[in-house]
Amino acid sequence: VKQITFAARPSGLPDASIFRIEEVALPDAKEGELRLRGLFYSVDPYMRGRMNDAKSYVPPFQVGQALEGGVVAEVISSRATGFEPGDVVLGPYLPWRTEMTVPATAVQKIDASIAPPSYYLGVLGMTGLTAYIGLMDIGKPKPGETVVVSGAAGAVGSVVGQIAKHLGCRAVGIAGSDEKGKLLTETFGFDAAINYNEPGLDDRLSTACPNGVDIYFDNVGGEVSDAVMKQLNFFARVPLCGQISMYNATKPPTGPRWQGLMVTRSILMQGFIIRNYAARFREGIEFLAPLVKAGKIKSEETVAEGFEKLPEALLGLFSGKNKGKMIVKA
Ligand code: NDP
Repeated sequence: VKQITFAARPSGLPDASIFRIEEVALPDAKEGELRLRGLFYSVDPYMRGRMNDAKSYVPPFQVGQALEGGVVAEVISSRATGFEPGDVVLGPYLPWRTEMTVPATAVQKIDASIAPPSYYLGVLGMTGLTAYIGLMDIGKPKPGETVVVSGAAGAVGSVVGQIAKHLGCRAVGIAGSDEKGKLLTETFGFDAAINYNEPGLDDRLSTACPNGVDIYFDNVGGEVSDAVMKQLNFFARVPLCGQISMYNATKPPTGPRWQGLMVTRSILMQGFIIRNYAARFREGIEFLAPLVKAGKIKSEETVAEGFEKLPEALLGLFSGKNKGKMIVKA
């Protein structure tokens, strides 16, 4: 079977040389194991962090080993009770191989009759749940409040804005192009969209947020966040979801700038990691699934065709190649 191997640790922005496509032989499945064929593979910004040799909430990738991530797969053969050939399963940390032998405990069955299987990597999976938990638990939105989202046209951000709208908030999205801005207002129903690559971010933000900003859902950090922080209201909440603008930095590009404002305006800022909220996933799915089914939350996907596209798709996240969730279809 084919495998994508982590060939070298990058410094700064990675390129294709850190990946190697190899043929590997798979061991036979033992008792309690499944043989799977990958259908849809998730690429996610956090994988950049796993490329560094640094202690974090997930162990670093090991050079010479397969990369791994969220995969929706079909069971080819089963030596585990409760799994039959043809079942469709989701594993959050499965190897980047076209087929794989894994313990049944590494996956869970998904119901492909509720939604297309790839949705379990996005709006009904890790990124949708991240939007839900971060916005609800830390953002605590109230109707009429203004919610600003950075990385708004991506997998997490697009769902944050749509939940905010559903709850009666004003949703303002920040993304990297006018085309993405159109997607935000025309498809996802944001009230306003701002292209951070155009000059005048401060002015355009204040025009889009005439009542200031009550919640800033931060996916990107850096200069975009500097601009939003200045416009936060008293008692604003800032769910810190990600800082993608810094993931490839070799040293932190900005110093602390916001803490003074946080004091005087009594702002709450809190980071969170979705995998610590597993006990809430069912609640999140129960909230999201009916809205997705009713078309009130739209799922946009950018799908690259072919297992070998995984490296390119992953790197594409750092230059904004995706609209909505970036997926690779085997
Ligand atoms: P996205 O689908 O949003 O893809 C990444 C997007 O980031 C790109 O499309 C691009 O959009 C934007 N981007 C890339 N580089 C920069 C930059 N230098 N400055 C500003 N924007 C940039 O990814 P996800 O929705 O999966 O993840 C979004 C964020 O949420 C990430 O920071 C990720 O690490 C984080 N995250 C955190 C989780 C948690 O548990 N806390 C769980 C899941 C995700 P554009 O064209 O607009 O620049």
